[in-house]
Amino acid sequence: MKKRILSGMRPTGKLHIGHYVGALENWVKLQEEYESYHLIADYHVLTTNLSTDEIYNNSIEMVIDWLASGLDHLKSPIFRQSQIKEHAELFLIYSMLITTARLERNPTVKEQVRDLNIENVIYGHLGYPVLQAADILLYKGEVVPVGEDQVPHVEITREIARKFNLQYGKVFPEPEPKLTIFSRLSGLDGNAKMSKSLNNTILLSDNSAEVSNKLRKAVTDPQKVRRNDPGRPDVCLVFTYHKKFNPEEINEIETGCRSGNLGCVDCKMKCSAKINSFLSPILEKRKYYENNIQEVKEILNAGEIKAKKVAKETMEEVHEAMKLG
Ligand code: ATP
Ligand code: MG
Repeated sequence: MKKRILSGMRPTGKLHIGHYVGALENWVKLQEEYESYHLIADYHVLTTNLSTDEIYNNSIEMVIDWLASGLDHLKSPIFRQSQIKEHAELFLIYSMLITTARLERNPTVKEQVRDLNIENVIYGHLGYPVLQAADILLYKGEVVPVGEDQVPHVEITREIARKFNLQYGKVFPEPEPKLTIFSRLSGLDGNAKMSKSLNNTILLSDNSAEVSNKLRKAVTDPQKVRRNDPGRPDVCLVFTYHKKFNPEEINEIETGCRSGNLGCVDCKMKCSAKINSFLSPILEKRKYYENNIQEVKEILNAGEIKAKKVAKETMEEVHEAMKLG
């Protein structure tokens, strides 16, 4: 039997290349080998923004990005968390299996609180890894392809699975995270994480002029002031983007940068060209789905039916193990 994958994203808007290289690329790659389920984590949006006005549209935009990047909805059901009530029930049960002290130690929430200048953390934000544990384990996900910031949450998921199994009998697997080589892509401003909320992104839906403009302003090695100054590729985020999107020329770029023969303007132009040729087929497919929104909605409906079936089966096992029948 194929192992199961569960992974999701928050529908906070159009996706950026960080989402792609950190997670989505693996989803697409692994969908042959694993039985994959992909969740639109709409309840998770509320952890950092209580307004629900944009959630539905953002969900559709995000699914378009998933499909345009090659996710096959026939192999990998796509569905909204809020439509499968079992997530909420399992979350309630799991919230009894973890201490608040454990959740307060979570580095990812600490980082979000710092980056978003949150003064008072709400209970649902502190507890969102518990909801995430329910998201994963409702489908008995064994493999979770995510970016590096999510690894602490998979660890919490493992702890909750272990605790449940010990207390009530074995129902859940202990899932493993699966990272890509670029599990934390830097943002255009030099921040260690490309992130929508930091406004330092290249979107999967950006056209070539937008990509070139954004890259032109990207931070490079601060010691390379003039064109012929030698640069340090290891501290330059444009070099990281070359590693991912232009591996063929990487040695030449590194030598050119170090020697001072390659200026930042030219280096960035080469990089934009490569990112644009990567994005071009995604933009094409995007156009198709933008013109066929009804098809996207049907994909979600079909995914919800498949997800619901698995969720119900798991909850029956949970009820039985907990003698709640
Ligand atoms: P943003 O901060 O841009 O709103 P997010 O972190 O809230 O994005 P999530 O839905 O939490 O978005 O993340 C979706 C997936 O994409 C997760 O697996 C996350 O680890 C991954 N991811 C997000 N940003 C990056 C990045 N810069 N580099 C690598 N992976 C990333
Ligand atoms: Mg996040």
